[in-house]
Amino acid sequence: MPGKNESPHGTGNLTETFAFRCLDCATTWNRTFEVIPLPDPAGCLNPLEYVDEDGRAMRTPLTDAVCAACGSRKVRVG
Ligand SMILES: [Zn+2]
Repeated sequence: MPGKNESPHGTGNLTETFAFRCLDCATTWNRTFEVIPLPDPAGCLNPLEYVDEDGRAMRTPLTDAVCAACGSRKVRVG
């Protein structure tokens, strides 16, 4: 799959790099997350957890996205 590759730490987990863009000042940056499949009792949602470079887990890469240039939280990913 594009954008996914082996973790450099050799844990076998997938990592995915997302391109972020600030809607206020147009700054762009990339951030790599470790993608961890969560147990799904319902078997239909295929939930994922994203762990950022600081080890913080979140449900989407946008959960804690803040522009480093202007501090805006109006950030898009894609
Ligand atoms: Zn900004």
